[in-house]
Amino acid sequence: MPPRPYLLALLAPALVALVLFLLLGWNMDAVYVSLSTLLGSGLTLVAARGLLQRRLSELAQRALTRPEEVPAPATTPSPPPDEEELEEVALLQRTLDALHQRHATLNAGHLQEARTLTAVLDGMAEGIWVTDVEGTVVRHNDALRGMLLSTGDIIGQRPLTLLRHGSLNEAVHRACHEGASTRLELTLDDVLSRTLAIRVTPLGGDLPGSAAVFHDVTELRHLEKVRKDFVANVSHELRTPITAIRGYAETLQSGALANPQVATKMVDIIHRQSERLSELVEDLLELSRLESREVKLRLQDVPLAVAASRAAEAVRHKAQGKRISLELNVPPDLQARGDERGLEQVLLNLLDNAVKYTPEGGRVTVTGGQEDGRCVVHVSDSGVGIEARHLARIFERFYRVDKGRSRDMGGTGLGLSIVKHLLGAMGGEVRVESQPNEGSTFTILLPAAVPSDASAG
Ligand code: ADP
Repeated sequence: MPPRPYLLALLAPALVALVLFLLLGWNMDAVYVSLSTLLGSGLTLVAARGLLQRRLSELAQRALTRPEEVPAPATTPSPPPDEEELEEVALLQRTLDALHQRHATLNAGHLQEARTLTAVLDGMAEGIWVTDVEGTVVRHNDALRGMLLSTGDIIGQRPLTLLRHGSLNEAVHRACHEGASTRLELTLDDVLSRTLAIRVTPLGGDLPGSAAVFHDVTELRHLEKVRKDFVANVSHELRTPITAIRGYAETLQSGALANPQVATKMVDIIHRQSERLSELVEDLLELSRLESREVKLRLQDVPLAVAASRAAEAVRHKAQGKRISLELNVPPDLQARGDERGLEQVLLNLLDNAVKYTPEGGRVTVTGGQEDGRCVVHVSDSGVGIEARHLARIFERFYRVDKGRSRDMGGTGLGLSIVKHLLGAMGGEVRVESQPNEGSTFTILLPAAVPSDASAG
């Protein structure tokens, strides 16, 4: 153990004085020498105290330094205690170093955890905010900014400032002060009219405040509505012919059979309605197969003139019945890349509509050509035309401009929807231009056939 300087400074002068008194007895010389020795040791003590104070304040300074401010505690240990230093001071220094080391390790762990948490939060599709007990936002993730369409500060804001919905504000208040969780759904009045499903919960444990998770369910709600509308439409469409069939059958049963003239008419109607029913079911099945990608299209080079003339043959009888001229003007060498049966179906649906919605004595033409390396076919008619406000919607399932007229003509409201799906599956598209009472032109665009020398190579 090293000699302790402060003990030496006190004991040495006492020993000197004792020896002097023993040797010289009680006289003035001994007193002077003792006094000067004591004075010397007093000065030594003052100096030692000063050193000790400096050293302690150094250690205190070091102790106050936050662990992360120490560059790398493990690699830069405190300078080794000097030989003369008090063991207690050295021990204090070692203890402080060990404490720093532990704090630095803990701190590094916390920093790592905080970074991981931030990365996880920012990687989430759901928006998240955390509030303090007053309901002021203290933290949020990136997704929340997008959901609130906010470019300003979110931290420091209250729920009511960010989303003007009292119910959300109340939910945050309940979570902060009553520890209650709330689920709510808000439809925002912004341009996108989005629907957000929000869950607000208290932070829990000893933590005051609340957390809210925002989930954008706009698409989900839209799909639910589309599904509900579809089911409602299908039921309605099926009910109409079924009601007619049942009604006429009952009338026949209750005596109309006895009148052959009336009975024949009624059986005709029953037959027509049952055909309509089967067309509807066929179209529905076709559409459902297309949507679920069950239909396997076989893409090949299809001569469009052949496809157009087959489709025209199928409607020629109907066109003749209405004295509608049907002209085909498709170059024989025009070939598209598509599914043969699918293309015929597309052209048939368009031609069938053209004939259906063109009054007696009108004109329907099919012209083909190429545009920007793609095949183009126009199906034009001189029919009733379509008002501009309906144009964007006529490709939707069951959308009809004039419900009564479509049904009278035997339409299912699914023809154009099937056209759009079929062309989409073949890498093509359909467009429409129309003027009420002047006619319509439906244009289909398809990839051109692969040139034969390219396919050979
Ligand atoms: P529908 O079976 O009712 O004809 P579609 O899906 O084929 O159903 O067409 C949707 C609607 O678009 C039709 O109800 C009709 O109002 C309109 N339409 C389609 N083709 C034409 C056309 N050539 N001329 C005028 N209106 C048309």
